[in-house]
Amino acid sequence: KEFEAAIGEYVGVKHCVAVCNATIGLQMVVRALGLTGEVIVPSFTFPATVHALAWEGVTPVFCDVDLATHNIDPACVERLVGPQTTGILGVHLWGNACNTARLEEIAERHYLQVFYDAAHALGCGHAGQMIGGFGRAEVFSFHATKFLNSGEGGAIVTNDDMLAKRLRLLRNFGIDGDQVVDVGGNAKMNELSAAMGLTSFESREEFIARNCENLQEYRRMLASIDGLTLFAPETDEPHNRQYVVVDVDARTAGATRDELFAMLHRENVIAKKYFFPGCHRMKPYRGAYDARLSPLPATEALCERLLQLPTGTAVGPAEIHAIGGLLKQALAGRVRRAA
Ligand SMILES: *Cc1c(COP(=O)(O)O)cnc(C)c1O
Repeated sequence: KEFEAAIGEYVGVKHCVAVCNATIGLQMVVRALGLTGEVIVPSFTFPATVHALAWEGVTPVFCDVDLATHNIDPACVERLVGPQTTGILGVHLWGNACNTARLEEIAERHYLQVFYDAAHALGCGHAGQMIGGFGRAEVFSFHATKFLNSGEGGAIVTNDDMLAKRLRLLRNFGIDGDQVVDVGGNAKMNELSAAMGLTSFESREEFIARNCENLQEYRRMLASIDGLTLFAPETDEPHNRQYVVVDVDARTAGATRDELFAMLHRENVIAKKYFFPGCHRMKPYRGAYDARLSPLPATEALCERLLQLPTGTAVGPAEIHAIGGLLKQALAGRVRRAA
């Protein structure tokens, strides 16, 4: 309860329902909203976003993202709305907000529900408020890789009283007082995770300060390497800067994203290829995906080009300098070989 109150207040929403992880949290929202048929979702996301729909018997319809934001493209959403569509699931990728105004306008026009995977976005703002209060509900993740770490954990936040009540039932076996009134599951966040989450939450300003310093350091370092560009849109809103996202232009850089990724891993730098190869190319979903019906050119490009570099409190100027040295060395070798 203390953890829920802290997150709810921080985000500025009426209800915070802490859960065992964000994947289950998304599933609960799908069920509580009564979604059926199809839900439009970006392919360019962590597979859990899409699994949560499929696990609840809803068909994910893959939408492209906007190259300028890496977030779900409202124009593409509009094209994909069909008779079976019941909802839109946006993902605030890298903590950058979706175009909530456009998505909610489209949803209203077609009688759809909008909700958000905010796994990356605790501590980030949008349109003068914190992410968490948009759509019918938003879901945060507190997995070890995320901005706030509770071991495993998540939270559903919403301003909707009825929805919050239903989510609390679903979380705890459908038990209401001494009655069982719903087919509930067991999705409770455990007390140990809540305690750890509170401790992590106390350090939020420190995490943000370090991430911002690291981002600046990466920006300086990457400025001297042709073909590698930091993707970090400027904003006046609060931002957690939990992801250092680099766009690799293989032709200019002289090496592909995959080559740089392999080199970094050989040197024990745990870079990531988020989100290769895109959910629409993954085994459970590729059979149903038809590129002619819904081409995903921006998704295909980003899957091949993006590289995420380490940040957080275990990383500082010395590590970033070392990573810069490795990248420069690898790319200098390329130019020599090419010559
Ligand atoms: C991490 C993540 C999830 C899953 O969160 P869990 O708490 O690990 O279940 C869902 N969506 C996105 C975009 C994520 O990055």
